[in-house]
Amino acid sequence: MKIAIFGTWYVGLVTGTCLAEVWHDVVCVDIDQQKIDDLKKWIIPIFEPGLEELVKKNYANGRLKFSTDAKQSIEFWDAIFSAVGTPPDKNHRADLRFVKQVATTFSQHTKSYKIFINKSTVPVGTWAECIKIISENLDSSLFDIVSNPEFLREWTAVKDFMVPDRIVCGLNSDKAKKVMEQIYAPFTRNYCPLIFSDIASAEIAKYAANAFLATKLSFINEIANFSEKSWGNIWDIVKIIWSDKRIWNKFLHAGIGYGWSCFPKDVAALIETGKDFDYDFEIIKATELINKKQKTRVVEKLQKHIPDLNWKKITLWGLSYKPKTDDTRDAPSIDVIKKLLDLWVSEIACHDPEAMKHMKKMFSTEKKVKFYDNSYDATQDSDALLILTEWDEFRWADIEKIKNNLAQNIVIDGRNIWNKTDMLESWFVYEAIWY
Ligand code: NAD
Repeated sequence: MKIAIFGTWYVGLVTGTCLAEVWHDVVCVDIDQQKIDDLKKWIIPIFEPGLEELVKKNYANGRLKFSTDAKQSIEFWDAIFSAVGTPPDKNHRADLRFVKQVATTFSQHTKSYKIFINKSTVPVGTWAECIKIISENLDSSLFDIVSNPEFLREWTAVKDFMVPDRIVCGLNSDKAKKVMEQIYAPFTRNYCPLIFSDIASAEIAKYAANAFLATKLSFINEIANFSEKSWGNIWDIVKIIWSDKRIWNKFLHAGIGYGWSCFPKDVAALIETGKDFDYDFEIIKATELINKKQKTRVVEKLQKHIPDLNWKKITLWGLSYKPKTDDTRDAPSIDVIKKLLDLWVSEIACHDPEAMKHMKKMFSTEKKVKFYDNSYDATQDSDALLILTEWDEFRWADIEKIKNNLAQNIVIDGRNIWNKTDMLESWFVYEAIWY
């Protein structure tokens, strides 16, 4: 099929590349000329394992194209995906500006029947708003709307797209259903469930999935905080509960809270959407509150050992919200840096293998926040080391080297990557999230 994808970043680029990999003819469209020019030179704007090879291969064989020409990309293609961003607005709602822009563009350039497939995460009812926008320029016989939310995770995005747990299509037309079956035939052939529902349910399901996973994380963080006070060990507790098949072993890692472009924004947006329907999400509000507190628990733990952080140098290892991605959107490291600045530290020495470029931009005017290409250099004469992302290079770090560099042997391990007994035997003051 001839498929155009609007929005060429995490979701759009992965979707376009993977659909080209299964032999569809794909054009990825973006309004960012630089991004499109870079992609044509094989410069990939995101760090995503396995993506670069697939982009190069499919661009070279002509099945994957990149363009800023919206008109042509709609006129000559059959199915139009919108995978643009839905960032939070100032009221924590999903900002639908970009989705509406694509809907308008779609309505202006469609000349024959096409489907408008929304891949972005959007609040329930967005489909009706899109129909209204498109209908201003287009007869209803010339288009159908589909909600096709994306569940990929950064770092495993290519694998998640190629071998998904399920594909969701919210629609209300048999014609659109046939097109979706055709697009996803290479996946259903490998027994991936293709779930059809009404459009509203598909829109809600994406938020429900993210809110559920976020709730699991806040739940286990709350149990970790409680067991720390009551002399339990969250590792043992998790091993006991996750062997229960009803609970399942995923998303039960206690840590410093969830970040990401999606969980915080989607949880907040769902709470706000609830208000439109006079519905108060009590569990989800608690999930959000626990997470906000959890993000800076490492600083509270640090203050147990250095109550006054005034003029202290603190090292942060890890800035991205999880390893193997350069995404720092809503990462706990941002909250930790802001909190340390409020406490008047002299320097925050940061290192991350991939994510420093984004944080350099965010804290460009903050002289106390410094970035080090070498992780050990960042620990030189520092009063404490805080681990915020579980990159493998930190897991296997040279503990003796760190000890020689630090001014005080204090490590607060927000990701529980080191062994407490080993650290205490090496004469460290060591705290993780469960003790
Ligand atoms: P993003 O905001 O990071 O990128 C969107 C891209 O769209 C940008 O490159 C931007 O230049 C482009 N764009 C904006 N307006 C455009 C227009 N009118 N025409 C063409 N391009 C336009 O978004 P993302 O992280 O890829 O996420 C997209 C959507 O998917 C969001 O709704 C997000 O919540 C959802 N989602 C994201 C993930 C993830 O891991 N990032 C996973 C699942 C779902």
